[in-house]
Amino acid sequence: MNEDDHKRVLVADSIAEAGVDRLRQAVDVNVRSDIDAQELLRVVAGYHGLVVRSRTKVTADVVAAAEKLQVIGRAGVGVDNIDLKACMQHGITVVNSPMAASVAVAELTCALMLSLARRVPFGDSQMKQGEWPKQQLKGVELDGKTLGLIGMGRIGSEVARRAVAFGMHVIAYDPFLSADAMRARNVEPAALKVVLSTTDYISIHAPLTDETYHMVDGSAIDSMRDGVRIVCAARGGLIDEDALLAGLRSGKVAGAALDVFESEPPGVSVLVEHPHVIATPHIGAQTVEAQNRSGVGVCTEVIAALAGGEVRWKVV
Ligand code: NAD
Repeated sequence: MNEDDHKRVLVADSIAEAGVDRLRQAVDVNVRSDIDAQELLRVVAGYHGLVVRSRTKVTADVVAAAEKLQVIGRAGVGVDNIDLKACMQHGITVVNSPMAASVAVAELTCALMLSLARRVPFGDSQMKQGEWPKQQLKGVELDGKTLGLIGMGRIGSEVARRAVAFGMHVIAYDPFLSADAMRARNVEPAALKVVLSTTDYISIHAPLTDETYHMVDGSAIDSMRDGVRIVCAARGGLIDEDALLAGLRSGKVAGAALDVFESEPPGVSVLVEHPHVIATPHIGAQTVEAQNRSGVGVCTEVIAALAGGEVRWKVV
């Protein structure tokens, strides 16, 4: 057996133990989940596989130093921390686990929608201060309301299924999904301007690209129904935060629930502090189940790639 038959994998970020166990069944594993950039550069040459989440930056320098590297596994979806061009140039496969978090993010979206409708966080924070703000807490129901989805891929579809169960009428704009596929999920296909202007709740599930950056801007908000409630657990940058704040201040927007921000963490922010904003610290994928699925999924893919087998979720 030559030296290269012993595959070595570096786990450079914290991933679910079940994923590490899966790796250990097939390869030599080194878990260094707090490794810094300099140390990574120093040791990466010794590994055939690298597993990361979002913390570790796989730069062109890291890729150039990684003489034996065959595969990088990203536990999760976004690969903006990996220099994909450099990976392609060096013939390194990059895999991720895009399905793992769909249910978790969809459930958080529903939690945020319900929290907006009933102002649950406000009631809780007041109770903790000894208050009983019952009169201020007359909410609204989801039943019978219209939800407009922007983007109906993996997460948007899961949100739609749950919203229908709440008795909502769901319409969606997704330029890459057929009308038939939407109707099969009890969702009415619609143009973006119809989604923006005719719905009670708007939830965004599109990717952040040059095209979608600030797709919910001041003019989009102006076109919305008075009292609209907006949820975004997709990516910061999809909503123009200044325009959203203006909409909240004018009363046009009755509430916004945000899991993602243009700059993370946003720190002390007038938007986050606004009484009709509910904010969570990018926790969409933060469930035990999603983290396990993501860790095991990506490690299975890394093992398959190292064995020269088929990978299901190849990014490049
Ligand atoms: P996906 O690729 O399955 O779905 C995205 C959908 O958006 C696709 O159907 C695509 O056709 C559609 N789309 C593309 N451009 C569009 C546009 N201009 N207008 C409307 N729709 C458009 O992705 P997904 O897994 O469902 O993820 C959706 C979003 O959630 C992404 O932004 C992703 O980064 C984010 N996300 C957030 C968390 C979190 O922790 N909050 C976790 C995972 C994913």
